Amino acid sequence: MRVLLVEDERSTARILAKGLREQAYAVDVVHDGRVASSRLADSEYDLIVLDVMLPGQSGLDVCRQLRAAGQDTPVLMLTARDGIEARIAGLDTGADDYLTKPFDFRELLARVRALARRRALPLAPDRVVVGRLTLESRTRQLFVGDEAVPLTAREFALLEYLMRRRGDVISRRDLARHVWDDSYDPLSNVIDVYVQRLRRKIDGRAQPSMIRAHRGEGYQLVDPDGATP
Ligand code: CA
Repeated sequence: MRVLLVEDERSTARILAKGLREQAYAVDVVHDGRVASSRLADSEYDLIVLDVMLPGQSGLDVCRQLRAAGQDTPVLMLTARDGIEARIAGLDTGADDYLTKPFDFRELLARVRALARRRALPLAPDRVVVGRLTLESRTRQLFVGDEAVPLTAREFALLEYLMRRRGDVISRRDLARHVWDDSYDPLSNVIDVYVQRLRRKIDGRAQPSMIRAHRGEGYQLVDPDGATP
């Protein structure tokens, strides 16, 4: 899941980005409202964490512009101002939820999870099961059969995306958009490298692999037992 974090306080932005990345989100950070708007005009995000008080353009204006452009990306607004006025203004511009600073990072994570569940991955449950794989989103654990298999944050994000869209052939471009952040280099083979690592972890000695490669198209996660396409 790819998140745009818009926060002009550098130290806060750094801490939030680090925490979100540890939870396997791909995070891009910008510090200015106008930069955020131009970023949103030409990139696809799954969620936006948006501070209200920003240089360039306020968070309220960023959100208003986004909705006026017909984009329904979930927005979690951060407001420093305590009080009903700011919160109403935020919700009126089309924000989905808000948090008043200072907040506990765990609450931010819970709200991000809730918004993510509501949106892209429709009614995404906390547990996804495909064949012998069970993925627990809340605790970020993978079980292959009964065995817990450790994954890095990026491996987890990639497998979660493939599992939630099991049966679909997913292009590298799509994977790059939703699992990697701006540091993704389209000329690199990093996606293939990660797929190989995941295969080693999830397939064991089973053949063929649960992750099928479709030449020129992308990757597809399939249930070898045929319960899912
Ligand atoms: Ca601010």
